[in-house]
Amino acid sequence: MAIIERHREEVAIQGAELPEILLPTNCPGCGIALEQEELRSHNYVCLNCAHHFRLGADVWIQLIADSGSWQERWTDVRSHDLLNWTVPKPYQETVERLLEDGLNEAVRTGTCTVANQPIWFATFDFGFVGGTLSIVAGERLARGMEQAASSRTPYVLVSASGGARMQEGVLALMQLAKVNAAVGRLHSSGAPFFSVLTDPTFGGTAASLALLGDINIAEPGAAIGFTGPRVIKQATYADLPPGFQSAEFQLAHGQVDMVVPRTELRPLLAHLLEMYP
Ligand SMILES: [Zn+2]
Repeated sequence: MAIIERHREEVAIQGAELPEILLPTNCPGCGIALEQEELRSHNYVCLNCAHHFRLGADVWIQLIADSGSWQERWTDVRSHDLLNWTVPKPYQETVERLLEDGLNEAVRTGTCTVANQPIWFATFDFGFVGGTLSIVAGERLARGMEQAASSRTPYVLVSASGGARMQEGVLALMQLAKVNAAVGRLHSSGAPFFSVLTDPTFGGTAASLALLGDINIAEPGAAIGFTGPRVIKQATYADLPPGFQSAEFQLAHGQVDMVVPRTELRPLLAHLLEMYP
């Protein structure tokens, strides 16, 4: 970690100031009253109990990319209601409302630098239909990975997803195979793939690409798994162990490689990128 220490000051200077986010009055981890400015300067991690607040794609882009380096791609690839899904409400209406709110699909992707080292970067946005893997999300992920593979550029992914998007049915499920094949091409090219798993990473996203990084990095306390604990308990009638499906539980059981506080993430990525030129 001494080498990471070397990056810390440099990385802190290059990082952009994070935007404000909607916060509860009190921390869900410890109940302390929250101060927006204080939390923002600490990457939205509670200073009292280290609860990691969920972040949208906009904040993740600011958090990972060097200031001014982000170049977003394929923003015009948009979702359409191919199955005429209307339960519990028309899918097309949901998508249009989210687009009007300024969100642009469950995955955003592009290029940037981290401590002046170029990467392809993709981040899920849990605010867009639970960060679900859709046709658009799968297409953006696969295109970015193919570009990273052909240019042998490191690929960094931040996941926050409930799995495949049920409103797109089998077309969403097909994205699992597509992104899995794209990960295979990335691995074959020799370009490193660093996967950051945040709260929550579940279902088809965990099953198709989030756990396939060369190094899988989880945030403290993040819930990570395929099916949630309530459904597993109903199916097995078993008492689940304490901390089941937490990042720390997955680390202890070999499913992730490290659990890293958000404040250490940029210095760690800068270090890893230097190791895999
Ligand atoms: Zn707290």
